[in-house]
Amino acid sequence: MINVLFSARDALWPQYQPVLEAEFAKLGIEVNLVQETDAPETVDYLIYAPLRDDDDLSVYSNLKLIQSLWAGPDKLLRNKTLTQPLARMVDPGMTQGMIDYVMGHILRHHLHTDAFVQAEEWLTDVAPPLPSQRTVAFLGIGELGMTCAVAARDYGFNVLGWSRTLKTDAPIDCFAGDDGLHHVLGQADIVVTLMPATPATDGIIGADAVAAMKDGAAIINPGRGELIDDDALLAGLRSGKLSGATLDVFREEPLPRGHPYWAEPSVLVTPHIASETRVPTSSAVAAANIARVVRGEPVLYLVDPALKY
Ligand code: NDP
Repeated sequence: MINVLFSARDALWPQYQPVLEAEFAKLGIEVNLVQETDAPETVDYLIYAPLRDDDDLSVYSNLKLIQSLWAGPDKLLRNKTLTQPLARMVDPGMTQGMIDYVMGHILRHHLHTDAFVQAEEWLTDVAPPLPSQRTVAFLGIGELGMTCAVAARDYGFNVLGWSRTLKTDAPIDCFAGDDGLHHVLGQADIVVTLMPATPATDGIIGADAVAAMKDGAAIINPGRGELIDDDALLAGLRSGKLSGATLDVFREEPLPRGHPYWAEPSVLVTPHIASETRVPTSSAVAAANIARVVRGEPVLYLVDPALKY
């Protein structure tokens, strides 16, 4: 019997409890799954989507794994009491939602949809080219970025990928390093950023990156707000160098009232809704990952404390 504590918003407990119990049962794992405990030292596994940044995780002295319900580990890594192994969520349901968001906004920029909104002008000169005449670059080609990149490729776009480590056996053309970044930015009509927030990615879309981008390019950022130097992006948009931005994530969330992004006509702000963890698929992933520890198998999706993702 393993003790599993589910710690997340109260509203999630009735949704997750029966599904998680069914998934553990399918795997033949006897589980005592609770939402609260008076004996944190007895907890073996934590399924976690915290409400606060400062939970004291040191009380879980026998924890074998924290299985996050979130894809991005940045907020959890800010907790100074975190010493236990942390697995982030890689959820097929969330991935499908991200494909929808990314493809929807790629197509919005590709089709110049915004130009027609109440234009009161017969704008025949902005009829779109074919997808094969457009290049879409994905900065970050991990679980989400690569799946979205393949979806865009399958739709017919030219697709490039860029990541920290060079992918040599990938279904799209891949690049790494500073030269690689400049290359993909110089080619892309649409840039999609799906990297985690880490010290190395902070402000990666800064003045240099904006300058390296193709004239008239658009950017879609469902990754993290920290990837973007907001002043540099706004300058690029206002000068006409860039044609538009779809931004789902921000350095401060909710995006404060009065922030220049709200009033910038070429920016579409979405409120961190690009995709979210789905109960059925994430429960299966969480139970299966915990079962791996129980069976002595390597855990999937472990966050590297040094790389911060
Ligand atoms: P992964 O860890 O699977 O992929 C991250 C990608 O970013 C990898 O390709 C990685 O490179 C690359 N990367 C990391 N650091 C650097 C760097 N310094 N330079 C270049 N590339 C770098 O994460 P996911 O795909 O699962 O998720 C990506 C992010 O999406 C999450 O961290 C989260 O912030 C965000 N997200 C946003 C959501 C929303 O609703 N807006 C929902 C879910 C996630 P390499 O392949 O070499 O390791």
